[in-house]
Amino acid sequence: MQGTMLYGPRDIRFEDRPEPKITKPTDAILRLSATCICGSDLWSYRGIQSIAQPTPMGHEYCGVVEEVGREVRNIKPGQFVVGSFATSDNTCAICRDGYQSSCVQREFMSTAQAPCLRVPSADGTLVATKDLPPRELLPSLLATSDVLGTGWFAADAANVKPGKTVLVVGDGAVGLLGILSAKQMGAERIIIMSRRASRQKLAREFGATDIVTERGDEGVARIKELTKGIGADSVLECVGTQESMMQAIQSTRPGGYVSHVGVPHGVELNGEQLFFAHVHLHGGPAPVRRYLPELIQLVLNEKINPGKVFDLTLPIDQVAEGYRAMDERRAIKTLLRP
Ligand SMILES: [Zn+2]
Repeated sequence: MQGTMLYGPRDIRFEDRPEPKITKPTDAILRLSATCICGSDLWSYRGIQSIAQPTPMGHEYCGVVEEVGREVRNIKPGQFVVGSFATSDNTCAICRDGYQSSCVQREFMSTAQAPCLRVPSADGTLVATKDLPPRELLPSLLATSDVLGTGWFAADAANVKPGKTVLVVGDGAVGLLGILSAKQMGAERIIIMSRRASRQKLAREFGATDIVTERGDEGVARIKELTKGIGADSVLECVGTQESMMQAIQSTRPGGYVSHVGVPHGVELNGEQLFFAHVHLHGGPAPVRRYLPELIQLVLNEKINPGKVFDLTLPIDQVAEGYRAMDERRAIKTLLRP
């Protein structure tokens, strides 16, 4: 089998890798129907997050089960399944509370940009569909695996409810699907901070009502202008930089909610500023597994079309070009066909 490896900044190779095998009795092996490149993969691709040695890449996946370990009870060969970037037993106290991405048995997936994949804790991690889904729904089903699940958690953690005014900071794929999620949850007004025409267009399609191009203090002032001077009820921080985090907190009304799902890089919060901001702050690695059954059903019923965030599709052996296109912002998100 061949798989995707990162050797160093901007050095992606698709090369021979060992065929995945059952190593624990709770594992499953999948033949992937589709996989993709995540915005968070760009942190290490750009060298902002350094790697010690050549590292396998990929954590978003859906596909057909080929084989299961002897202790796997619910997942069966031949089923179509979607799983999260974080594995979970779905039975521990943390999982039962809905925080499967911090499961006591969690492992982070990291070899999914390949044709085949080993998934640990298969019974807890994977969600199967009743039938094999039609091919045209694969991009949207793949999106539930991380990018939609994360946008959905961002909206949920920011307390989005019918009638609320929502602000999304970040016009990457997660931010865009944060808009879709907020719309599904009944938000009345959805403001997106974006300066790029192609993303503004998709933001509108997903339900954004207002677009703000200003940033920093000017951005905060513009949000206040749009919200009767007090700030938004629910703010989704979907980037992970100091600037975006401060943008989010300062644009939230006292008593409002800030969620943060962008993996933080160099973010430092000032205690006094946070104290007087008077906001609820909740985030972390999205517990995608909590939402998967509902999101898969919304896709199968064609209520939502999150697969629209994939504006580039490549055969997986051209994965390096997929990274380049996202790095150079020629593509929002790249889908890879095994
Ligand atoms: Zn657990």
